[in-house]
Amino acid sequence: MSKVVKFGGSSLASAEQFKKVGNIIRADEERRFVVPSAPGKRFKKDEKVTDMLYACYALAEEGKDFSENLSKIKARYNEIIDGLKLTVKLDKEFKVIEENFKAQAGKDYAASRGEYLNGILMADYLGYTFVDPADYIFFKANGEFDAEKTDKALSTKLSKCANAVIPGFYGSTTGKKIKTFSRGGSDVTGSIVAKAVKADVYENWTDVSGFLIADPRIIENPQKIEVITYRELRELSYMGAGVLHEDAIFPVRQGGIPINIKNTNAPEDPGTWIVGSTCQKSKYVITGIAGKKGFCSINIEKDMMNAEIGFGRKVLQAFEENGISFEHVPSGIDTMTVFVHQDEFMNKEQKVVAGLHRLASPDSIEIESDLALIAVVGRGMKSTRGTAGRIFSALAHSNINVKMIDQGSSELNIIIGVANDDFEAAIKAIYDIFVVTRL
Ligand code: ASP
Repeated sequence: MSKVVKFGGSSLASAEQFKKVGNIIRADEERRFVVPSAPGKRFKKDEKVTDMLYACYALAEEGKDFSENLSKIKARYNEIIDGLKLTVKLDKEFKVIEENFKAQAGKDYAASRGEYLNGILMADYLGYTFVDPADYIFFKANGEFDAEKTDKALSTKLSKCANAVIPGFYGSTTGKKIKTFSRGGSDVTGSIVAKAVKADVYENWTDVSGFLIADPRIIENPQKIEVITYRELRELSYMGAGVLHEDAIFPVRQGGIPINIKNTNAPEDPGTWIVGSTCQKSKYVITGIAGKKGFCSINIEKDMMNAEIGFGRKVLQAFEENGISFEHVPSGIDTMTVFVHQDEFMNKEQKVVAGLHRLASPDSIEIESDLALIAVVGRGMKSTRGTAGRIFSALAHSNINVKMIDQGSSELNIIIGVANDDFEAAIKAIYDIFVVTRL
């Protein structure tokens, strides 16, 4: 039996935080595989070591003196070493880093050192084996993560370790160059490790006690989500609810391993469980609400559109030709609306319109900007009558004009389009009707 435990930057920002992490790991002998991030912020205005490394390397790239920046980074690690009374020294490591910066080893190499060094400290602190992901996590020549090769190498290696620390965020390319995942990528490493060791659970430790039903910047003290399915989470994170890196779901999902989001500062809290499927009903009909501003809708009208075979394809071709991906395409009998990201569409607007005329000969095209999309997500919607009705009456009561409705065919989510200016009020209205009135 084993658990993979990933700790985020704020959980490892100082010696104090390291001690909490040590206690968590020692409290359960199944916590055998540890994936650390780089030290994050100790206080609000603090800097993350990853950001410091990027800035330091930018100086090196320009041929400027970066010694002061590097010393500041070293001081962050020394503070942890001293606070934990470790005997390990990083002088040699920093010498190598300095040389590699001068030799322009690359931005990814630079950023990866945050996790690498923290991994060395963590392994020393716990007495666990240090496993460098540069030797076991691989990317293909085209930059894509090589899941198959990684899984083989990593599972063979870790099967020989009683316990190990595997730094997050990076691996290497076929050319043995260090490459990182995108920001927040230690979540992905944790998931890859969990799959490789066939863990029973992937614990992802952070500084919040799980996911919230809605964004706390909009809803004061929102309720927590106790259990969420991978699919629900995909819908919500796509719409901007971010606690976990989007790509972190795939490896564990393949391995059928649940993720438990936990809080390093409140380890007793149950957190949120992310699972493949569950018989547990969510407390409310909806599991979560998330949304994004900044969309445009292109409304295309043509009489008898419904009878014209290939019309939809021609419309979408005009977007494809301009390299624009579409978000939603609700359609009526004689109309079809395409929702796109405003910033992607803006500069190519007239080219798309020309393309639409050339390809699909519509009767009219109307463009509306500054729209927001809100996803109301919940596995409970399938078996509950009147969910859509409740959403729309709540929005009507709050004087919010609904511009678009799109229910996914899985009945897992309802997407609503409103004006950017109505975004916050719409989320409040939906939260109130499903959660507050149920409390
Ligand atoms: N340290 C990296 C970042 O700040 C990766 C991570 O923390 O997951 O993005």
